[in-house]
Amino acid sequence: MKKYTRVLLKLSGEALMGKQQYGIDPQRLDDYAEEIAEASKQAQIAIVIGGGNIFRGLQGASKGMDRIQGDYMGMLATVINSMALQSTLQSKGVKTALLSGVFIDRIADSMSSAKAIRLLEEGNVVIIGGGSGNPFFTTDTASALRAVE
Ligand code: UDP
Repeated sequence: MKKYTRVLLKLSGEALMGKQQYGIDPQRLDDYAEEIAEASKQAQIAIVIGGGNIFRGLQGASKGMDRIQGDYMGMLATVINSMALQSTLQSKGVKTALLSGVFIDRIADSMSSAKAIRLLEEGNVVIIGGGSGNPFFTTDTASALRAVE
């Protein structure tokens, strides 16, 4: 019997940096994708990714930037990371779907729990970018929210 049937994985943006100071380390991304590909044979997997390797709203606010604008920049950073992971998983033959809490329809379908569950049941790894879609939150909150949903 399977130990878990459905799992929500939270990956921090910083984890994607590897030894770099900024951005995405391709080797690290590949390592995560390998592990996720393996785990997806055992359970349905949804993933929420952070954006701290690119931008955090508080970081902008500390330099005088508007907090809300900065938080949206952070949410877009999570979409960039989500796209990178999706692309790497797809290159390994893993069926994936990208949903986003920030509506950005050329790139990702809008997040709804009904859609996410349907996609999971159809055998996709579901990546949820854009955090909660609201400023003043982090992807830790977003992952708790998505897990409950
Ligand atoms: N963010 C937000 N609302 C959310 C999720 C994220 O405003 O629901 C913004 C916020 O500025 C945050 C940034 O996106 O700092 C990146 O997310 P986070 O800091 O959680 O990334 P991590 O630390 O996991 O890399």
